[in-house]
Amino acid sequence: MPPDRPTKVTHVPLAPQHQTDPTDRTSDLLARDQHAVWHPFTQHSRWAEDAPLVIDRAEGMYLVDTEGRRYLDAVSSLWVTVHGHRVPEIDAAITAQLRQLDHSTFLGMTHEPGIRLAEELLRVAPTGPDRRLTRVFYAGDGSSAAEAAIKMAYQSALQRGERRPLYVHVAEGYHGDTLGAVSVGGIDLFHHTYGPILLETRMVSSPGVRREGQAPAERAAEVVAELRALMAAEGHAVCAVVVEPLVQGAGGMLTHDQQFLVGVREVCDSNGVAMVADEVATGIGATGRWWAVEHAGVVPDLLVLGKRVTGGYLPLSAVLATEEIFASFLGTPASARTFFHGHTYTANPLACAAALANLELMHTRKTVAHAADVGERLGALLAPLASHPGVREIRRVGTMTGVEVHPRTERTGFDVCRRAREHGVWLRPLGDVVVIMPPLAIEEPEIETIVAALASGLDEVFG
Ligand code: PMP
Repeated sequence: MPPDRPTKVTHVPLAPQHQTDPTDRTSDLLARDQHAVWHPFTQHSRWAEDAPLVIDRAEGMYLVDTEGRRYLDAVSSLWVTVHGHRVPEIDAAITAQLRQLDHSTFLGMTHEPGIRLAEELLRVAPTGPDRRLTRVFYAGDGSSAAEAAIKMAYQSALQRGERRPLYVHVAEGYHGDTLGAVSVGGIDLFHHTYGPILLETRMVSSPGVRREGQAPAERAAEVVAELRALMAAEGHAVCAVVVEPLVQGAGGMLTHDQQFLVGVREVCDSNGVAMVADEVATGIGATGRWWAVEHAGVVPDLLVLGKRVTGGYLPLSAVLATEEIFASFLGTPASARTFFHGHTYTANPLACAAALANLELMHTRKTVAHAADVGERLGALLAPLASHPGVREIRRVGTMTGVEVHPRTERTGFDVCRRAREHGVWLRPLGDVVVIMPPLAIEEPEIETIVAALASGLDEVFG
C-alpha cells in the first residue's frame, strides 16, 4: 500500500475483558499483570505471593475487587481521596468539562478552569502580615511540583544576583522520586542508591526523631540550632530550605513541634533563603487545617501542593509562589529570565474541573473542620492500642496517622495490614509503620471499622 494513503484502522479485539466466573477473571488479570506490568515501589519477586487485589470499581469510601469483595479505603488511595470515590458532584464537573474542552496546552494559551482554579487556590492559601502567595504554577504530580519549586528557588536567587547552588533539607524527608526531589529527600532506603547522581545538598536532622523521653519542643529547638549553625557556615550559598511541615509522611508519619517551622522561617529570613513547604501530603485539609504551616502561623515563599487537590480523581499539582519570586522572573524574552519549565498536560482542564468541584464541596461541607474532628475521633479510638504489646508508638496530626509496630518478621507492618485486609480494610504500611490516612469525609462507623480491623490485625500478628 502506498505510504501516503490513509489506511482504515480496524481495532483488533483485545483479550476478553469479562469472563463469567469472577475467580477466573481475577486470576486471568493477575497472570497478565505478572507478564506485562512493573508496579511502583514493588518487589516483583514477591508480588504474586502477596496476592494483590484487582480493583474493579469503587463506591464512596469503599474499593471493590474483581471478586466483589469490598474494602474500606483507609489510606484514601494513597492519601488523595477527599469525599470518597465517584462523588456525583465531581463526576458531573468532569463530565461537563469533557463536553466543553478536553485538553489544550497551558504553554502560550490559557483556559477558564486553569484561571479559576488558580484564583481558588490563592483564596485558600496561607497568608500572613508580611508574606502572601500570589502566583500558581501548575505541574502534574507531587514530585514534578517539588522539582519545579527547587528549580524556581535557584533561578530566582540567580536572577536577583546571587549564585546559591545549595539546598538544605531534612533527614527522613520525602518529596518525590524525580532526581531533584530525591536530592532533597532523606530516606536512606529510597534515596541512598542515587547519591552519586544528585544535586549538592546539606541535610539537617529530623525534628521528628527524638531521643527517648525528649520533648518535641526541645527537639525542634535542637534542629533549628543545627540549621542556624549550618547557615552561619554556608548560608550564602543556599537557595532554599525544603521541609515537610508538621508531618514527615513517607518517613513514617514522623511528627514535630510547630516551633520547628517558626525557627526555619526565621533562619530563612535572616539568610535571604527561600522556605519551601512541601504540603503535598499535609495540604488541603489532612492536618485538620487547610495547610500544615497554618498550625505554626508561618507562610513559606514556595508552597508545593498535589495529591488531594482534585479530590483524588486526577493528577494535578502546583507550586504557589510569592510575588517577589514571580517578579524575579520578569525581563525581556532575550534576558532568559523565563522559567523554562513545564509539562505537556500542565493544568489539564479535566483535572482543574475536578479540583474546582472538590474545593467547592470542601467549602460547602466544611470538610476541613470535619477532618479535624475525624482526627480527634481516630486518636480517641486508637488510644487503647498504645498499650498493645505489638505497638511501639502512635503518631498523629489531624487525620495523618502512623501506628509503629515492633518488628517481628521481615515485614511486620505489611503483615498487620494483610490481616486487616481480611477484615475488610485496606491499609498500606511504610515499613513498620501502619499508616491510616482516611478520606477526609469519612464518618464515625467507618472510623470504628478501621480501628477494629487494625486491632484484629495486631492481635493476630502478635497474638
Ligand atoms: N511530597 C510529599 C510530601 C509526598 O508525600 C509525596 C508523595 N507521597 C510527594 C511529594 C510526591 O508526590 P507524587 O507521588 O504525586 O509525585
